[in-house]
Amino acid sequence: MTNQDLPTEKVVIIGSGPAGWTAAIYAARASLDPLVFAGRSQGTLLAGGQLMLTTEVENYPGFPDGVTGPEMMQKFFEQAARFDTRVVTDDGPIAGKDITGKLFSIFQDVKSVDLSKRPFHIVGDGGYECLAESVIIATGASAKWLGLENEQRLAKSGGGVSACAVCDGALPMFRDSELGVVGAGDTAVEEAMYLTKFASKVHMFVRRDEMRASKVMQERALASDKIQMHWNTEVLDVLGDDKITGVKLINNQTNEESEMALGGLFMAIGHTPITQFLDGQLKMDETGYLVLPDPGRSMTEIEGVFAAGDVSDHIYRQAVTAAGMGCKAAIDAERWLAEQGVE
Ligand code: NDP
Repeated sequence: MTNQDLPTEKVVIIGSGPAGWTAAIYAARASLDPLVFAGRSQGTLLAGGQLMLTTEVENYPGFPDGVTGPEMMQKFFEQAARFDTRVVTDDGPIAGKDITGKLFSIFQDVKSVDLSKRPFHIVGDGGYECLAESVIIATGASAKWLGLENEQRLAKSGGGVSACAVCDGALPMFRDSELGVVGAGDTAVEEAMYLTKFASKVHMFVRRDEMRASKVMQERALASDKIQMHWNTEVLDVLGDDKITGVKLINNQTNEESEMALGGLFMAIGHTPITQFLDGQLKMDETGYLVLPDPGRSMTEIEGVFAAGDVSDHIYRQAVTAAGMGCKAAIDAERWLAEQGVE
């Protein structure tokens, strides 16, 4: 089959976190008949992005009693499905409402894109291919983890291990306890400072004898009487059955091992934006985040290609900001398509 024989979509949305589904809701309601590559990323075979690995979400407006991350993403998906958003499965595109409630793992990821000419060529990891007049990239980012078995177990079960203090730190389970933060960048300091509002004490585990964070942030952490620094210290294991009870540590200078009781552990060792499939076709910073010509808008430097959510935002990284960016991208795509005469 040559590229000319492939179906041509008005708008293809890549990603299924808050940005992707919000873009789909707006594009579908604007009669653009969007097609979503929802993916099976985050190493879990689940679509839905980082929220699929979050337990309670208490800061998303509209959910006064809180909601779990997976429940929230299911609601986003169902709202997009209500307006007949199509999703690429291993059997090809299916209107969302026909697969509501089915396992997300049948959704295809994008393997590669060719943005060198319009319409753009998109190839799914299950072999589905199409052309697209416009593309919205909403693939997000994934938090880095230490990769310890007990860390992953307790993170997935809501047992007090998290990669987002702003999302989870205010939960009652962390109140007045001693908490740990792994990492020493700006995020780690920001998270540690945030946790001081709830914790009796915050321990920062820093693997070197200096921090990567900007000077002003370092000073802030060092000046806090609630934050205790542990230099040259790495976490070897996370302790606890249903809930974290502590960590096993090693001082990498002396090789001395120790245990510390903790009521929660927060990873802040960076994020990896999901942009590898773009193969450098769009401008990225050194970490791989997309760099937009106008940071307040959704346009990339390639006409017809838009970005939304964490993939182009390493600062806010919230579900609500990602959803807002998804809305902007869909509106920008709709206006751009109209200018091109594609209705
Ligand atoms: P960074 O990559 O800047 O920092 C990651 C930190 O985690 C480093 O201290 C690193 O240690 C440590 N680390 C990495 N892997 C491990 C590991 N396996 N075990 C223990 N420690 C580890 O990521 P951030 O998320 O902090 O920041 C990303 C970008 O976003 C930066 O450019 C930052 O400036 C920016 N940012 C800005 C903010 C602001 O301006 N308010 C807020 C948050 C982020 P090491 O130094 O030894 O490599």
